[in-house]
Amino acid sequence: MVARAGQLGFALAGVGPVRPSARAEFFRRWLAEGRHGDMAYLATTLAERLDAARVLPGCVSVLVVADRYAPRGHVDLPRSGALRGRVARYAWGRDYHRAMKRRMHVIADEMRLRHPGHEFRSCVDSAPVNERELAVAAGLGWIGKHTLLIHPVHGSWLLLGAMLTTLDLGGPDAAEADHCGTCTRCIDACPTKALEPYRIDARRCISYLTIEHRGVETAGFAPQMDQWLVGCDVCQEVCPHNSARGADHPASSPGVNHDPRFDGFDLLEVLLWDETARRIALRTSPMKRVKLELFKRNALVALWSRFVSTGEVRLRQAVEDCAWNAAEHPLVRQTARRLLGLAGG
Ligand code: SF4
Ligand code: SF4
Repeated sequence: MVARAGQLGFALAGVGPVRPSARAEFFRRWLAEGRHGDMAYLATTLAERLDAARVLPGCVSVLVVADRYAPRGHVDLPRSGALRGRVARYAWGRDYHRAMKRRMHVIADEMRLRHPGHEFRSCVDSAPVNERELAVAAGLGWIGKHTLLIHPVHGSWLLLGAMLTTLDLGGPDAAEADHCGTCTRCIDACPTKALEPYRIDARRCISYLTIEHRGVETAGFAPQMDQWLVGCDVCQEVCPHNSARGADHPASSPGVNHDPRFDGFDLLEVLLWDETARRIALRTSPMKRVKLELFKRNALVALWSRFVSTGEVRLRQAVEDCAWNAAEHPLVRQTARRLLGLAGG
């Protein structure tokens, strides 16, 4: 299976045992402290996330695959001017869910022919499994202090997919050691101080605030958003395991190649989008799931972060225009008013 995954273009693949998570207490405490924010589904599916055998009854093993979406040493050079809303690198390519699942289904179909009577279920953000822990069990790396999987050679610009199976696939002789050591770069660099070693407070994380959070920006982090429109890459950008090193492997996985249409958006243009413009701009992108009002809310917050650092009057004016535009979605109007410090925000 691992060799077949390589033939199909996955940058990484490994197999490992499926066992109940050893970190159940950690996750329960994390949820009890409310650090998951609005992501109620993490609590309602906790039992499955702690034990993948609840997702596929009888499963004993997992094949974990990974596509790389950026090479080590990748630098995000500003291309589209000072008002560019930044997009996290994972979303720069075409929708990876389909591209990864298509290839995983090829492997699953072949395995079903060879092992009738066994079950295979592929998941790419489509089932409540903890892909990072499964990847560690499959020997693909360790979970860094920024809570993401790091492979010792490829770093952490990785998209993960997991195939659960009732077939015993064996596993690595030993887990990959934790190579974070005394480093704290990700924790120090996080603009909103969302990280402690190996623990994140999602309510402070820009990725959560721009993708998962559905309401008005109330956390007060607008000045720190640094023009992030969708997601945030800061903790991975500073990680030494993503730095340039020797002859690197190109990010060449099928379906996730960089599409320049998606690596940033003009913030003032986004504020003028209607639903049709949003659909056209985000067609084939994983960002197509971000609703129009959330995209505009994010654009307002990103514009405000720029206004706070430059004092450019036209940026404040754009926010004011949204605040008083009766045709705007209430979330957009309220966000604009809150940023302006007005009542009713
Ligand atoms: S994604 Fe950004 S905001 Fe979230 S933990 Fe990493 S650096 Fe902090
Ligand atoms: S920046 Fe340092 S501490 Fe953070 S994940 Fe990378 S190696 Fe670990």
